[in-house]
Amino acid sequence: MSVSQQRILKTAIPGPLSAELQARKLAAVATGVGTTLPVYVTAAGGGIVVDVDGNQLIDFGSGIAVTSVGNAAPRVVARVQEQVADFTHTCFMVTPYEGYVAVAEKLNELTPGTHEKRTALFNSGAEAVENAIKIARVATGRSAVVAFDHAYHGRTNLTMSLTAKNMPYKQGFGPFAGEVYRTPMAYPYRWPTGPEHCAEEAFELFVSQVHAQVGEQNTAAVIIEPIQGEGGFIVPPEGFLPRLADWCAQHGIVFIADEIQSGFCRTGDWFACDHEGVVPDLVTTAKGIAGGLPLAGVTGRAEIMDAVHAGGLGGTYGGNPVACAAALGSIETMQAEDLCGAARRIESVMRPRLQLLAEKFEAIGDVRGRGAMLAVELVQPGSKTPDPALTAAVASACHRQGLIALTAGTFGNVLRFLPPLVIGDELLSEGLDILDAVFAAES
Ligand SMILES: *Cc1c(COP(=O)(O)O)cnc(C)c1O
Repeated sequence: MSVSQQRILKTAIPGPLSAELQARKLAAVATGVGTTLPVYVTAAGGGIVVDVDGNQLIDFGSGIAVTSVGNAAPRVVARVQEQVADFTHTCFMVTPYEGYVAVAEKLNELTPGTHEKRTALFNSGAEAVENAIKIARVATGRSAVVAFDHAYHGRTNLTMSLTAKNMPYKQGFGPFAGEVYRTPMAYPYRWPTGPEHCAEEAFELFVSQVHAQVGEQNTAAVIIEPIQGEGGFIVPPEGFLPRLADWCAQHGIVFIADEIQSGFCRTGDWFACDHEGVVPDLVTTAKGIAGGLPLAGVTGRAEIMDAVHAGGLGGTYGGNPVACAAALGSIETMQAEDLCGAARRIESVMRPRLQLLAEKFEAIGDVRGRGAMLAVELVQPGSKTPDPALTAAVASACHRQGLIALTAGTFGNVLRFLPPLVIGDELLSEGLDILDAVFAAES
């Protein structure tokens, strides 16, 4: 790894060279494309991101759960370099190549369940979700899709319609796609009658709402993130997902697990569904799959996947050979370095520290997540009223100290932590020390 694994602050964050680039960005790039932390990057690796001013920041974001194997991970770089020199594109739908097939085989093997599976590859998470819905509709001959409160499934028209949060994802972008229905999420911390009733009551609400407002016989698919990402790292209580999956099976409804953020070792298992042995009909993947190159997949039961007529799925770039090479290098890294184990180790360091913070600072109402997908929810002391202002203040104070921390949540009051799974313990503790100091100063 060529990037030294230490935090270095040479200038203010952002520094003068980043500020110059940011001025160019503001003049050249559409305003709608925002930046959380405008430091301009020149290199990254392990748990460190290096900027143009020579600052080295601790990475608790992984480019939103993407560089789980680390940035410029050696096996990814080697395979990509080899592939990019051989050929860069033919279009798999025109003249195919082995890499695509090899990634499909890996996904079929690694996703939950031992049934016969098929995979189709795409470019982005949103595209994978769109295609999963298309497949479910053809396979069932039905059109309705049920999603959950706090869901995030992407920014294209159909996936934006599935996404719950208005600002910034949907504001002004309607009309939205039809036949999308929403039901309450099993959200233990905010469940009205208390977390102990959440699994059961949320499931009953789901069943009665779908029955009364949609009709099981009209429902093609139920789509859920097994741990919600942008919605605030909401972990449904034990039992909720298995019941949902069973109920879908009873009614011939395709159960889609959107594992785009939670997949690929992030939660300490290959997929978050593995935790309770839930076997979805279709799984969508992206983000962590290819070490930073754009790739996404839909993997699922052969009979559902193969319901679509030949030529019905695809796209010019889907399963690009360079992205497939990166995915193979990325998956190889996860297996060789036991990154599921690494995610569990990260949790064993981070969770107790976050719990200590929660005892110290009243503003932390909840600590949750799994593996290296952990979060704290910030509220006004003595209540559960969301505190997005404090959340933003803590995040930007972390940034100024050289710690990349991300926010999330429907109410903008969740700090989420997604370190690369290859981050060292020292950087991990240093990041947590910064967080502690920032909370002491800001809350
Ligand atoms: C990021 C994300 C998406 C969308 O992926 P893109 O690659 O940004 O289109 C969909 N679902 C979940 C759960 C995500 O976290």
